[in-house]
Amino acid sequence: EACAKVIDGKATAKQIREEIAIEVSRMMDAIGVVPGLAVILVGDRKDSATYVRNKKKACESVGIKSFEVNLPENTQEEEVLKFIEGFNEDPAVHGILVQLPLPSHMNEQSVLNAVSIEKDVDGFHPLNIGRLAMRGREPSFVPCTPKGCIELLHRYNIDIKGKRAVVIGRSNIVGMPAALLLQREDATITIVHSRTPNAEEITRQADIIIAAVGRANMVRGSWVKPGAVIIDVGINPVEDAKNSKGYKLVGDVCYDEACKVASAITPVPGGVGPMTIAMLLSNTLTSARRAHDFR
Ligand code: NDP
Repeated sequence: EACAKVIDGKATAKQIREEIAIEVSRMMDAIGVVPGLAVILVGDRKDSATYVRNKKKACESVGIKSFEVNLPENTQEEEVLKFIEGFNEDPAVHGILVQLPLPSHMNEQSVLNAVSIEKDVDGFHPLNIGRLAMRGREPSFVPCTPKGCIELLHRYNIDIKGKRAVVIGRSNIVGMPAALLLQREDATITIVHSRTPNAEEITRQADIIIAAVGRANMVRGSWVKPGAVIIDVGINPVEDAKNSKGYKLVGDVCYDEACKVASAITPVPGGVGPMTIAMLLSNTLTSARRAHDFR
């Protein structure tokens, strides 16, 4: 039975981390600068704490210095803004990341706006998103998850130019910037969202599918054009009695069905997830290089 090529995000991310580690030590040797990433976590969401811990570990693994701030749930917004301003001015910090979601009493928009454009390694500042959407403009940074999706396509030599791409989901952090990036790469894009009728029919026209919905196994085999390439961003816990934790993680795409139709597909876990962190490290290195004009 035919089966799609597996796009191995875990292995690709490992390779990228090795490339970054080499560059980090080259910079250290040449000019004595260590790239630094500041991570601000507010509240005690378990998933957020795990993401922050993983980001910190990844920094250490490539020689990037991490600065961590953990603030209680009831912290005032001004307090968070003070930390951001401090990091904006700190020359040892080249990237600033505010772990989302913030507690509901905070205004996410004003917090993200406070991050200096030069240090916006998450790429969420509206100026960076605006530049991403405009022809002839270059964002300082591109959001990590969509950047990781495109990097996988590049490293697997998958043509984007002139292809039909369907992005399912339009969130500010994944779907929308993923669509903008594909457009910059000369794909013809369609965005499918919760109010789209005929999502299946539209998706079936795609040469490239990026699924970023948050609904387990939503994209069935029948949604996939034979030979299409699938990047599955979704991370969804589903009950699994065989697993010691009682659950397992699956994507937005029904892998077992889709892999019989697609030409290439990312697994979950081990697909886009590890790429997101690799792109964060890459953005932080880029920022440090720019700050010191080091090539
Ligand atoms: P959001 O909930 O912010 O956005 C989901 C999007 O999917 C929305 O645009 C929504 O449409 C759309 N949608 C919802 N239901 C349907 C439907 N039935 N048909 C079509 N579209 C639908 O999620 P995120 O973008 O933040 O995340 C998406 C998934 O990616 C999640 O599983 C998340 O865990 C995962 N993720 C993975 C990352 C990684 O590193 N691999 C990083 C970030 C997220 P509408 O706009 O109309 O509401």
